[in-house]
Amino acid sequence: MAVSVSMLASGSRGNCAVVASASTKILVDAGISCRETFKRMKTLGDDPRSLSAILITHEHCDHIYGLAMLAKKLRLPVFMTGATHQAWARALRDADGQRPKLEKFERFESGHSFQVGDIAVKPFTIPHDAADPVGFTFRAEGIKVGIATDLGYLPVSVRDHLRGCDVLVLESNHDLEMLRVGPYPWSVKQRVMSRVGHLSNEALADFFTNDYDNSATFIVLAHLSEQNNHPEIARRGAEKALSARGGLFNNRLLLAAQTEALAPIRL
Ligand SMILES: [Zn+2]
Ligand SMILES: [Zn+2]
Repeated sequence: MAVSVSMLASGSRGNCAVVASASTKILVDAGISCRETFKRMKTLGDDPRSLSAILITHEHCDHIYGLAMLAKKLRLPVFMTGATHQAWARALRDADGQRPKLEKFERFESGHSFQVGDIAVKPFTIPHDAADPVGFTFRAEGIKVGIATDLGYLPVSVRDHLRGCDVLVLESNHDLEMLRVGPYPWSVKQRVMSRVGHLSNEALADFFTNDYDNSATFIVLAHLSEQNNHPEIARRGAEKALSARGGLFNNRLLLAAQTEALAPIRL
């Protein structure tokens, strides 16, 4: 029982999770404030100062909002791709055009595995409208964790990376009908629905029905839209698709929340 996954926050107002082995603790995205990250880790009985590194999926605000402060305060190495780093630094230029600096920036490339302590990390490309967005799988102590949110659809390559995961964190962003009739301007609706937007409940259910390998002990629905989704609709859609495969019995289905941390998943 030495690998854990804690969803600290999930959704368009900030994303942050902790993937930990007995000796290594990785923060995946830093989309809530430093203060809030500290607070939520402490609520779970976790110490932010025990973090080993921060990994960033892409430069959208809901994934990097607290990054500069967290990296500075905790003096942690920050791993992201070169293009994501460029985009992040460009967006955060001050009035004089000065770019922010990370004390310990570690560059990785999508498709190339690297090691953080005893956790093997594999970043893979996802279809999303950012500079160089990635999802991750993590392997430690015989356990595999997969995280893929912020993606317009699930390409074959992503489905391949997600095979054999014991914990799967997947985007269930919107209900198509709620998005269609909802309050967003048409241009935003189109962006969300596009191949580089966000994954719908329906697209995720299709994956569960047709391609999911039933390997996960825990499935976490993540990055739910507050405007265009409802937790119960997302849950029911996923449950229905999973039970059609006879997989529900094996799978514990959880929903990550925006406003509070989820109790740690331990394996
Ligand atoms: Zn996002
Ligand atoms: Zn995004």
